[in-house]
Amino acid sequence: MKSLDTALFRYINDGLAGDFMDWFMATATSPHSWTAPVLVLCAAMVAVDRKRGIIAIVVALAAVGIGDAFSGQLLKPFFGRIRPCNALQDVHLLVGCTQSFSFPSNHAVNSFAIAGAIGYIFRSLLWILLPVGVTVAISRIAVGVHYPSDVVTGGVFGFGLGWGLAAVSIKLLPSAFTRTSGKKQAVFLDRDGCVNVEDNHIRDITQFRLYPDSIESIRKLNKAGFLVVIITNQSGVARGYMTEELVNEVHQLLLKWCHDAGVRIDDIRYCPHHPDGAVDRYSIKCGCRKPEPGMLLDAAEKLGIDLTRSYVVGDKISDIKLGPATGAKAALVRTGFGAGEEVKIQRGEANPPNHIADGIGQAVDWILEDSRLPR
Ligand SMILES: [Zn+2]
Repeated sequence: MKSLDTALFRYINDGLAGDFMDWFMATATSPHSWTAPVLVLCAAMVAVDRKRGIIAIVVALAAVGIGDAFSGQLLKPFFGRIRPCNALQDVHLLVGCTQSFSFPSNHAVNSFAIAGAIGYIFRSLLWILLPVGVTVAISRIAVGVHYPSDVVTGGVFGFGLGWGLAAVSIKLLPSAFTRTSGKKQAVFLDRDGCVNVEDNHIRDITQFRLYPDSIESIRKLNKAGFLVVIITNQSGVARGYMTEELVNEVHQLLLKWCHDAGVRIDDIRYCPHHPDGAVDRYSIKCGCRKPEPGMLLDAAEKLGIDLTRSYVVGDKISDIKLGPATGAKAALVRTGFGAGEEVKIQRGEANPPNHIADGIGQAVDWILEDSRLPR
């Protein structure tokens, strides 16, 4: 391993030779040069999500502390004795090696511990922080203070430490950190264009077809302990396209399919109204037609749902508006009218949801991922 390390060392050094790379590599490992970006990163995390940002910072600090103690204080004396740096004295590039030799590389441990800890909580930052860790790791080899194998070991150990510590912390935290309302979490699913294929008002029961992943998505939510509630605008009743009997018939069919598949829908609510309808008794301005939150609030009251830990999924802006209106998080699906609504959001005509997914399956995967963290 040592001769391979040495050869690799030379190779990296030769490849990175040059004034700029010397400066860059030395700078990349200097704590001073990292202070500003780290502060910006911390501020951004807290701004985006205060609770998760603070958890990420605390876990990352703890991981760095543990990593430093482990690599610097515990392992260095031990491995320093059995792998003395003198063995590399004939490698002319190893200036100062006797001062900084350590196993595993504490710089690699720390930079990957930060990537693991923060990346576990803010998944998108993982793909920014990992390359940073790699840069730091390579620079430690290039400036001649660590064996490549020490850096690789440090990186793997550091990442596992950060990731594991974040996972354990999140598991232990909820009871102390999240609201313990005792109420249930729910996912409110829109019907047409989300659970079943959008078909310009379901006027005949034969039009009613589910998306391929709808049943499995509901099953995942059941398993994760979410209540599943369907809330749907059926203004076709007010417009005279169909009767309430047909709406109920469609819902009985949906419940039968779910029952046959062994999955559970806890409640289905619909709004038959429209202010400009053709049928008098339904042509009212009601409090249940989305984006009014009436259906959602009624279901939450009846089923004992904690809306601040719940989610809304739908293909229309009127669905995702229910998020901010009730304290739930919202996901837009691109199925149904969703792709068109996404364009309106991009144009700034509506506020963006917490997440945009290709369909119900992806939206549910996001919910399961998002809900494992405290909020
Ligand atoms: Zn209504």
